[in-house]
Amino acid sequence: LFVTFEGGEGAGKSTQIRRLAESLRRRGRDVRVTREPGGSPGAEAVRHVLLSGAAEEFGVRMEAILFAAARNDHVEEVIRPALDSGAVVLCDRFMDSSRVYQGVTGNLEPDFLEALQRIAIDGLEPDCTVILDLPAEKGLARARKRGGSGAPDRFEREELQTHEKRREAYLEIAAADPDRCRVVNADRSEEEIAADILALVEPLVDE
Ligand code: C5P
Repeated sequence: LFVTFEGGEGAGKSTQIRRLAESLRRRGRDVRVTREPGGSPGAEAVRHVLLSGAAEEFGVRMEAILFAAARNDHVEEVIRPALDSGAVVLCDRFMDSSRVYQGVTGNLEPDFLEALQRIAIDGLEPDCTVILDLPAEKGLARARKRGGSGAPDRFEREELQTHEKRREAYLEIAAADPDRCRVVNADRSEEEIAADILALVEPLVDE
């Protein structure tokens, strides 16, 4: 089972992935947690470039190609082998992040983006995508408070308006693909959100 987690900065993706992984492991499941950009040694190297100041010189096409290159490596080196071995794979961001960040707020042409997506994922679509939905200003405030990961990366410095646009873009993706996508209200306690996510993922694991 391949589950991806999406949402803006500060939506709580990594916290919720950790909690879900613990719950599923307690139930005896083999769980592999991974993230994008990155997730494999090659893709982590690309992540480092993409989140650095050097990437401010890249045009949106170059940026999108690098995200796609990293995703393809991650799919072939990590995700597909883990799924083949029977693991549940939980991935922090995946193809919908490209649709939202490069496609909607980056203004990358849809045809170019979709061609890259096909190459990047090579048929490996998520079985389920959990979209953590939160008002943009709350997500931004949380992301700023987080601190732990040091200085904000170049994406986190962007405006509130851009964050609101991304939130809407995620909701549109969910509306267009209701079989795959589940929107979870992330403006609640960690426990409530975790319970909702477990209730929607656990039945899929047993299918
Ligand atoms: O998940 P996290 O917030 O750590 O993601 C790292 C950064 O990469 C984010 O700030 C996000 O805005 C950016 N990103 C992006 N395009 C993607 C995936 C992530 O711009 N396709």
